Amino acid sequence: MIEISGLTKVYGQTTVLDGIDFTVADGEIAAVVGPSGAGKSTLARCINLLERPTAGSVVVGGRDLAALSGRELRRARREIGTVFQSANLLRRLTAAQNVALPMRHRGLEDAEVRRRVGDLLERVDMLHRANHFPSQLSGGQRQRIGIARGLALRPSVLLADEATSGLDPESTRSILGLLTGLRDELGVTLLVITHEMDVVRGIADQVAQLDHGRIVEHGSVVDVVRRSDSPLSRALLPMPP
Ligand code: ATP
Ligand code: MG
Repeated sequence: MIEISGLTKVYGQTTVLDGIDFTVADGEIAAVVGPSGAGKSTLARCINLLERPTAGSVVVGGRDLAALSGRELRRARREIGTVFQSANLLRRLTAAQNVALPMRHRGLEDAEVRRRVGDLLERVDMLHRANHFPSQLSGGQRQRIGIARGLALRPSVLLADEATSGLDPESTRSILGLLTGLRDELGVTLLVITHEMDVVRGIADQVAQLDHGRIVEHGSVVDVVRRSDSPLSRALLPMPP
């Protein structure tokens, strides 16, 4: 469960997040949409603590992240996996080595790392590309490896920041299938940042639209679509054939 309240982030003179309230229940898939510069990635970075909020709180699995330090903070961070746009893989490492990296940092034993890397690569259907370097993989395959790496420390929450942007429809569908499978089989709570309304319609339970650092529209996908008079509901309607 992710509970965000009054989350505010200020850079210099600029308020990038302005009092965000947002809750994602266990096993739920929430989508965050909004124009470029709205603050979506900043929101993700405040949740995984790559950034410290200026004000407000982020509670993940019952722990207020801002109140933690040292060992507790490192433990809480492991609960949160992140998949970035273009996967952010290290290009000098193979797919398997990229997936292993968070486990090695954590000091897991070699045998355990190998076992888990095998399991993860199998889950994302990439065992056959274990020894390929990122430059030898397609965009969709890189995202799969990024997802496997995001799951390496068995997080309860996975943040996906534009995990399908730039992919063709077929690769997008298979990544979305993978993400919903993680929710269904592992119970992972997902926060999906996207500008693609197909993605929202395809997998999200709830959707929030961010603009200039505020949530301007929010609700279950079913309810938002029913509103039919709002900009977000219109954006969510499928294109007429
Ligand atoms: P996009 O869809 O283009 O990825 P976004 O919604 O993810 O956009 P953010 O990356 O969260 O947007 O950025 C929101 C605003 O915060 C932007 O105006 C950006 O310039 C500003 N910003 C982000 N990071 C910093 C930083 N480290 N220092 C100063 N300003 C920043
Ligand atoms: Mg962004």
